[in-house]
Amino acid sequence: MEFPVYLWYIGGGMKIAVVGTGYVGLVTGVVLAELGNDVICVDNDPGKVARLSQGIPTIYEPGIDEMLKRGIAEGHLVFSHDAAEATRQSEIVFIAVGTPPGEDGSPDLTAVKAVANAIAPAIDKYTVVVNKSTVPVGSGDLVESIIRSHHIAEHLFDVVSNPEFLREGSAIFDTLNPDRIVIGAKRKEAAHRLVELYAPLERPMHITDLNSAELIKYASNSFLAMKISFINAISRLCETCGANVGDVAKGIGSDARIGSQFLQAGLGWGGSCFPKDVQGLVATADRLGYDFRLLKETIEINDTQTLHFLNRLDKRLGGFADKRIALLGLAFKPNTDDIRDAKSLIIIEEILRRGGTIQAYDPIAAENVRALYPQIQYVDTLYDVGKDADAAILVTEWNEFKQLDFSRLGAPMRQRILFDGRRIYRREAIERAGFEYATIGA
Ligand code: NAD
Repeated sequence: MEFPVYLWYIGGGMKIAVVGTGYVGLVTGVVLAELGNDVICVDNDPGKVARLSQGIPTIYEPGIDEMLKRGIAEGHLVFSHDAAEATRQSEIVFIAVGTPPGEDGSPDLTAVKAVANAIAPAIDKYTVVVNKSTVPVGSGDLVESIIRSHHIAEHLFDVVSNPEFLREGSAIFDTLNPDRIVIGAKRKEAAHRLVELYAPLERPMHITDLNSAELIKYASNSFLAMKISFINAISRLCETCGANVGDVAKGIGSDARIGSQFLQAGLGWGGSCFPKDVQGLVATADRLGYDFRLLKETIEINDTQTLHFLNRLDKRLGGFADKRIALLGLAFKPNTDDIRDAKSLIIIEEILRRGGTIQAYDPIAAENVRALYPQIQYVDTLYDVGKDADAAILVTEWNEFKQLDFSRLGAPMRQRILFDGRRIYRREAIERAGFEYATIGA
């Protein structure tokens, strides 16, 4: 992957700490180091800190390997487990820890609070504390009150909300080329520190109050999830009336007011963000006294989409008992090894529960799924996945699946049945290879 030359601008760099070195924290850290800032990435997982210090990436992400090594070699990037020391050495401290859903669907802020408590005592000069984690409205105030509870004077710090919009699989590119940068702050001076930091990216910046910035992140993800659920609901209609959801999506998406993105019918949305963020907004709305039924239905449509598709295959096979199913893809989307809320997990769980057996292939995510489901078989090469299978399901639309040699896939299968959960194939090509083909919304 190539990056614009102007990013090699060095000098005037800031001193930055990023606490939480997962997908968001690591990508943020390496990109800020690439921009010439001095970055300390902090994590409380000692194994992660050890690997990253040696230049070994802990996530799969195109472009991260070389940028990580370069940041370390040029002395712009170091890793540590000590959030307090990193804070003492920095003028801006990012909080980029996980905010998984709690019992009631609202985000669990335990890690955010822990970081606020860890960095507060180390604030001994003016410091901007930036919430990059996805956190509900009011969390900026919460972080501020935690820091104040350590008797840190008001003039010594500001809390800023700077939500992250990167997509796993193109996270480096997205961080370098965001559609917009949202900065929510109570005081203009604090927002301007971030404007300065991001200035080399030359991207549009939206300066807002804290609450608006926090809401923008949840509203964006919820809107995108709603768009996918909408087209998936249309796909159900298509299946019953003989229409084709691909044509319908094209027809509505070419209206500039609607746009074609996020109108691909499929198994539904998953991953580490959409499910928890939509739930999170529903929980926030409940807390604020608004029953967000539109989003509740968005979730309901999504929850039933994969099962609906699986039930079609179940019916076709006369039940999954003693049937062997081949899964193509396990990651929640292509170009990532992330399997959080991946549709593959629901499919595996259901097929096993109904008495079937599974063999699966994924170019990258297999090891992560193996940790959860050691009882299914994982193959290392794509065309081995069909061996003795009664049907195959395309779960993740990896590029390498797009140009399949169907005859080769079908040769070792017991029955040539392909259920395409992402609508990536042309029916004629597959049927020519002797497959029976079924997909969503057609
Ligand atoms: P992650 O789970 O990959 O990473 C979180 C990291 O924080 C882990 O490495 C963990 O060890 C570390 N950590 C936890 N508690 C800590 C503590 N007290 N001190 C130091 N380190 C600690 O999570 P992620 O995917 O990077 O997401 C981080 C936040 O960004 C979440 O709020 C998420 O919703 C949001 N976000 C994620 C994405 C995405 O695509 N992954 C995109 C946009 C926003």
